[in-house]
Amino acid sequence: MEKLTVGCRLDDRSSFPAVADTGGRYDAEDCVRHGERVDDGVVVVAGDGCILYANGAAEDLFLAESGSLSGRLFGHPLVAGDSTEIEIVRPDRRKATAKMRAIPVEWEGRAAQLVLLHASGERRRAREPQRRSGELLHALVAYSPLAIVATDPSGRVSLWNRAAADMLGWSELETIGNGLPATADDPEESLVGVWAQAMHGEEVRGRELPEQRRRDGQAIALQVWAAQMNDAAGLPGGLVLMLGDVTQRRRVEAHLRRLVGHDALTGLPNRRQFRKQVERTLNKLSRRDAQPLLVLQLGVDRFKNINKSIGHGGGDRLLQALARRLAGALDETDLVARTGGDEFAVLLRDTHHPHDGVRVANKLLQHLATPFELDGQEIFVTVSIGIAVYPHDGRKAADLIHAADDAMDRAKQQGGNGCQFFTPDIDSDAREQLALENGLRHALERNELFLDYQPQYDLKSGRLAGVEALVRWRHPEQGIVSPGSFIPVAEGSGLIVPIGAWVLHEACRQLRAWDAAGLPPLRMAVNVSARQFFADGFKAEVKQALRASGVAPARLELELTESLLVRNAAGVIDLLHGLKALGVRLSIDDFGTGYSGLSYLVDLPIDTLKIDQSFVRRLAENQRYRAIVAAIGELAQGLDLKVIAEGVETASQLEYLRSVRCDEVQGFLLARPLAPDEVARLLR
Ligand code: C2E
Ligand code: MG
Ligand code: MG
Repeated sequence: MEKLTVGCRLDDRSSFPAVADTGGRYDAEDCVRHGERVDDGVVVVAGDGCILYANGAAEDLFLAESGSLSGRLFGHPLVAGDSTEIEIVRPDRRKATAKMRAIPVEWEGRAAQLVLLHASGERRRAREPQRRSGELLHALVAYSPLAIVATDPSGRVSLWNRAAADMLGWSELETIGNGLPATADDPEESLVGVWAQAMHGEEVRGRELPEQRRRDGQAIALQVWAAQMNDAAGLPGGLVLMLGDVTQRRRVEAHLRRLVGHDALTGLPNRRQFRKQVERTLNKLSRRDAQPLLVLQLGVDRFKNINKSIGHGGGDRLLQALARRLAGALDETDLVARTGGDEFAVLLRDTHHPHDGVRVANKLLQHLATPFELDGQEIFVTVSIGIAVYPHDGRKAADLIHAADDAMDRAKQQGGNGCQFFTPDIDSDAREQLALENGLRHALERNELFLDYQPQYDLKSGRLAGVEALVRWRHPEQGIVSPGSFIPVAEGSGLIVPIGAWVLHEACRQLRAWDAAGLPPLRMAVNVSARQFFADGFKAEVKQALRASGVAPARLELELTESLLVRNAAGVIDLLHGLKALGVRLSIDDFGTGYSGLSYLVDLPIDTLKIDQSFVRRLAENQRYRAIVAAIGELAQGLDLKVIAEGVETASQLEYLRSVRCDEVQGFLLARPLAPDEVARLLR
């Protein structure tokens, strides 16, 4: 270890003004705090003579580099309390004299000597301007409301002012000479992280840090400025960090944010926030498929009266309790908001059917049925609920909320404690669809389906040429349900496949039963819907029905709709040829309504065109329809197709059809759909 060369004279016993001011009581913290601002050299020497600390003035005195005295040996015996004049031999061989006094102190728990070195007068004068700016700096640092922390290039703290100690909880003594304390779990996000970034030249000016922790664990929000310092040679000499405590400001900001987006009374999102959330959800929806989304608007029935009887304070508490109950009744994916004085709104995100709205509304009504207790008083509350369905009642958030509001008003007008859809029939439609679908699942196994047969007559001979099988459902509660209402439901749910197969088999079986009864042979027309036609195994099903019944294929006519035929031309043609190969007849039902071109007729193996009832119905009233029907007749003749007109209800319609080229007729004028034994009677 290198020894400082210190000569000494033992005659001088004068005191040290700058440090003596502290009243003769010193501790290590004082040394460090005062050491940097006094003109006198301050050196702390351990019991073994090793220098623990030296201030700037001491370094000046020894002409030593900053920080280079620590760790070296102090080469002069120290006698506590004595003031001695010593001679210092400096690296440039010049000598300096100083008065020295040693005072016992405690340094990091160990006994040490504080050595004060008072240099000669001329030297002090030279340092005067420096001393003044030092005083100014000291005052700035000491009294700054900002925490000021300086480090050397390796990150060791060299300055830690009072504000830093107050703000972060670590004392000067704990930090000087050590690395920056850990103010966050993730070093990247802590003061150390900022320090490293600033050291790498990143600008840090008023940066807001993520939440930091004080020494006592309390959260603190900090804003940071950093400045690089250069040493005498212009090299990076460390960093100064200035920290502001912005915890309070951030708390106010968060509170304001909550005020803007949230209702202060209940803590729920407010109307604005609710609309934003609905918008956000709609934006996400439109990118996926159009799944229904429901907005419910709830209003407390007769809230004014309640408010009057329990007072405004009571009213407020009631609304808070109500808000809690609503939130408790809903799923996590649902959003509940307070949208007005006595109004709440709910957004149901996870719905599949408008019916879910009724389910949730009923649940809410049920949850509110138990009275609220306020100051020992029981208060009964009911609400009116309006339901709007996306996309049915609106595609925009504002429209949906408006629609739900309207529906709520209607629910109120109807006496409250209930719910209403914005579109009234959505409710009944929804319920009906649901009930139909459930019922249809059991219709087959419970033998609730049966067929009626509507006769088709040859116009020339007037003879019964065939029948069309029309399915009916004998519903246990609703009575006979027409195919117009349940076939679309069956299509939607896929139930049409087993139902259609049953119809095929039953129609063929019936045809053979009439044959067996010795009745004249008829042709049987069976309706086939699109989903059934395109389902795998349809052709096999037809084949199977023919084989099981023994009906000659040419006596079976499949009625396909025009829209089905034009939908997927290539695939359809193959399927049709496949069926045709079985020997069955193919007919285009509701011909003229499919908005198709006519050219497809050339390619398809079709036998019959069935003119739609809408044309037949208007024959009398409109010349244009007469022209269309006549044209269909001509077209059919040219393509060698049979033409049948359905929905014939009047004699004049029949008359006209006779005058154009039409082969057969079907309609209420001639016969309604009949039960099998009625057909048998007709044939006899
Ligand atoms: P569609 O195949 O066009 O059947 C003709 C419809 O017109 C039948 O109604 C019949 O009762 C009705 N109708 C017959 N003559 C007249 C008339 O003079 N005036 C009026 N106003 N109507 C008349 P329905 O039985 O209610 O059947 C409706 C539709 O349901 C059928 O139209 C057909 O598309 C479908 N459908 C019926 N049975 C089946 C079936 O077994 N399978 C499939 N896939 N669909 C079926
Ligand atoms: Mg038909
Ligand atoms: Mg038809």
